[in-house]
Amino acid sequence: MDKNTSSSSSSAAAHVLIIPFPAQGHVTPMLSLAKLISFSGVFTTFVNTESIHRRLSGSGRIDGRRLRFRAVPDLLTDDGGNERDFDFPSMFFNLQESMRRGSTETYKKLLTEEFIGEWPPVTCVIADGVLDFAIEVAGEVGIPTLVFRTSSPCCAWTYATIPSLINNGIIPFPEECDMDEIVKGVEGMEGIMRRRDLPSFMRMVKSTEDNHIKLMNGFNSNLVSGKVIIFNSFDALDPTLLPIMSSYWPPIFTIGPLHLLTKFWVKNSCSSSLRQEDRTCMTWLDNQPDKSVIYVSFGTVAVMSPEQYIEFWHGLVNSGHRFLWAVREDMVKGKQEMEVTKEMEEETKKRGCMVEWVPQEEVLAHRAVGCFLTHCGWNSTLEGMVAGVPMICWPYFSDQMINSRFVSDVWRIGLDMKDVCDRNIVERMVREVMEGESALELRSSAARMADLARKSIDENGTSRANFESLVSYIKSAELPRGS
Ligand code: UDP
Repeated sequence: MDKNTSSSSSSAAAHVLIIPFPAQGHVTPMLSLAKLISFSGVFTTFVNTESIHRRLSGSGRIDGRRLRFRAVPDLLTDDGGNERDFDFPSMFFNLQESMRRGSTETYKKLLTEEFIGEWPPVTCVIADGVLDFAIEVAGEVGIPTLVFRTSSPCCAWTYATIPSLINNGIIPFPEECDMDEIVKGVEGMEGIMRRRDLPSFMRMVKSTEDNHIKLMNGFNSNLVSGKVIIFNSFDALDPTLLPIMSSYWPPIFTIGPLHLLTKFWVKNSCSSSLRQEDRTCMTWLDNQPDKSVIYVSFGTVAVMSPEQYIEFWHGLVNSGHRFLWAVREDMVKGKQEMEVTKEMEEETKKRGCMVEWVPQEEVLAHRAVGCFLTHCGWNSTLEGMVAGVPMICWPYFSDQMINSRFVSDVWRIGLDMKDVCDRNIVERMVREVMEGESALELRSSAARMADLARKSIDENGTSRANFESLVSYIKSAELPRGS
């Protein structure tokens, strides 16, 4: 084993239970991991809340020989309600609480079941790093827990530095402050991180007793409470940060991009989408020239005002380029009151396509797509990287703030439009990514990044090797209950 994990003798009857936070961006990578681990011969139980279980398309949750799906009650009556009216951090606290009350009993039962047919008892848990109750309960019944952090390593590290930023007087921000000032004293982020790149809620924090700080501290202690930390990322992305993180934390396994590894190994892997995909956009894309389309999506929770929506729309139309825009029905607050000019509608008909939800990985891989206007959620960022498509980033909140900074200033595969929403800037950035010298430069660095991502899952790739040692570790993890 090449990671410094302690393990005992190998067990043929390893059984891992994987439990994600109930949201698309968490379910997708953890389901990929479940498929991969079961494909390696380990019994794998994938646990969702009942509402997510219902929303996973039929094909996304078909039991296999070594993969089974189970649901736990969550006391939520509204399907998908947790992705609507997204109010951070109350949404997290409410969801944690409803799961703690609703799911604990069933979850505990799953953890302590004896043999059922050929299924052995659970020998280890892979819990989402933001799901406190799942980690706590596994600890209570004595099952070793591995923590999966679905955000980027640079985000996890940023969160981890919050206590020292408080000690150094950087948080809370002074009343009047320069958001572009570099934040000093964060190991590995020297010269990179500005105030505006910190998680967006830090702008609201007025005291160290704030709920946002409590939430972040909870994430930080979850992270180090497990035997190992798993990231959906690859080593070449963070050659400076990862060694620093490793020197403070339990062993880190970077095993991404998981959607690429899954495609490569599990091949006929089915969709993990929680919404209905509109495939008419694929036919539309088929009729567009190579690298001519800007694909626009702001993920699953970002909400914008009608004014912001109109600014994006004008910017896209004014750029003269073609665009495909995934506009969730709940993305614009107050859309009904919005005035859209005839001219906008006509220009959009000529060279635009707007649908509610697209098969994003397929869209990004389509030869017609030349730019990704994204909110920089970690899954979207990785999917854009793997497709080698340059990005324009409009981060909405949380981890997206630091992800977009890394996209533009560390990985240099896109532009960061953080904190502004102006049609002229949208138009200028679209032109910069789609036209002339700047477009060529961005395209070639995006292609280089895609190549690094692919190499990481090759036979000798780091993610592939890390995944294999993770599976060996799971197979040899100490059996709980003294067996
Ligand atoms: N996605 C999709 N179709 C869409 C928009 C998004 O399939 O029309 C998927 C996308 O491929 C990604 C996930 O939704 O896997 C969004 O996750 P991410 O971490 O990027 O953002 P968040 O969920 O935090 O908004």
